[in-house]
Amino acid sequence: MELTAAEAWSRILESARAQLPEQSYQTWLASTMAVGLSNEVLAIGAASAFAVEWIEAKYGELLTGLARNLFGNGFELSFESKTNGSEQATSFAQMPLSELEETEPREATTEASGVAKCLVGTLNPRYTLGQFVVARNNDMAAAACQAAAAHPGRAYNPLFIHGGVGLGKTHLMHAVGHAALERSPNLRVAYVSCEQFMNELIEAIQQRRTGQFHHRYRRIDVLLVDDVHFLADKEATQEEFFHTFNALHDAQKQIVLTSDRPPSSISRLQERLVSRFEWGLVTDIKPPDFETRLAILRLKAEQDGLTIGDDILSLVASRCRSSVRALEGALIKLLAYSSLTRRDLTTELAEEVLGPSFHVGKEVTAEHIGATVAEHFGVPMQALRSKSRARAVALPRQISMYLIRAMLHLPYTQIGRLHGGRDHSTVIHAIRRVDQLAAGDSGFRDQLQQLRSTLDRGRRHT
Ligand code: ADP
Ligand code: MG
Repeated sequence: MELTAAEAWSRILESARAQLPEQSYQTWLASTMAVGLSNEVLAIGAASAFAVEWIEAKYGELLTGLARNLFGNGFELSFESKTNGSEQATSFAQMPLSELEETEPREATTEASGVAKCLVGTLNPRYTLGQFVVARNNDMAAAACQAAAAHPGRAYNPLFIHGGVGLGKTHLMHAVGHAALERSPNLRVAYVSCEQFMNELIEAIQQRRTGQFHHRYRRIDVLLVDDVHFLADKEATQEEFFHTFNALHDAQKQIVLTSDRPPSSISRLQERLVSRFEWGLVTDIKPPDFETRLAILRLKAEQDGLTIGDDILSLVASRCRSSVRALEGALIKLLAYSSLTRRDLTTELAEEVLGPSFHVGKEVTAEHIGATVAEHFGVPMQALRSKSRARAVALPRQISMYLIRAMLHLPYTQIGRLHGGRDHSTVIHAIRRVDQLAAGDSGFRDQLQQLRSTLDRGRRHT
């Protein structure tokens, strides 16, 4: 007998329910329904465009995995909104004022959801301007934050800070909150990640409390939204964000945004949002240079009451170049190692801990690994990206994939793309093959080891 869409979806849901917290299941999945099934694609309807975005982002992988377990590897899920997303957002935005007034939240009820929990309480006490090392890589962003905190809504509005991961964006954003509150303790400051903003919005829609949501956000004096690159491709959330942004901006409330890329590079970000994000000041944070890294380490050590020799801090600073988070991670690892093994913190110990096997970031790039492997085997670098299946090229290509995975932990799909657009199963196969060869052939193992040490040496001396 043929499987119907409804049956297929109910079996998938049954498995999902067993794996998810009941609350999540009830909020997001219980109200979905199967719409159709053809060619192994099961279409599912969700309550709104927001719900579709949320389910895809949060549960897409889990649900697809379950579906494939049940019905085979070719099975796909496709979510669609039962209502038109923009229609919903518009009606939400045009919510009559009376409804907004009526839904004035009581403190007790705002605790469980909404902005109240994102107020002051969740600002990290360590993330202040005083504990932020200002240097060439971040001085503009730090100065702008200071100005925004001193004159909320007047100086740079919005203030948009972008930069790579672990470079201090969140720290600076919290610092604006702290500094603003220090000057005016009655300000209503909200710190929220963009994902959380979306989460709360969807929840409000599902529970028919959108008026409340809207109203709460409109009462904020300083709105800090972290990681707005999360808006990429999420058109329905962008719509709501746009209205919240306008309401606050019109009322001259301060808005600070961070992102891992500039507004114009956020994929499928509505033009009108790009332009609004660029209204105020767009500034970036770059990776810190050696002196700054050392200064940050000194500050962190001092904060934690640790006395660590400058020789050791310098060594850590010279090894970790990619992000401040990696830098902190290296220091923590070193301290943990020294205390667990009861060995004194010496430069020898640091060399040992931070040595070849310690992955400190992106000093070695995929490009670098590919080039080293190609050179080792005497094949042109482009050959690794070519379609050629000749063994002289195939093996180096597999080794390049293997080393990139082992040293940089990049996702299989990305490694595949770097090698001439191959898919993830080809990459997995390559890695297994290299493992097998290394297990059975000591000559091959030596070659692999030699390549790794070459790359590690490069990492240490760059
Ligand atoms: P991002 O949000 O850019 O990914 P974070 O703000 O989370 O980065 O910063 C990562 C870590 O690095 C945090 O612990 C933060 O305190 C620290 N950090 C980053 N830049 C600095 C700096 N200039 N001075 C002191 N600490 C910093
Ligand atoms: Mg951050």
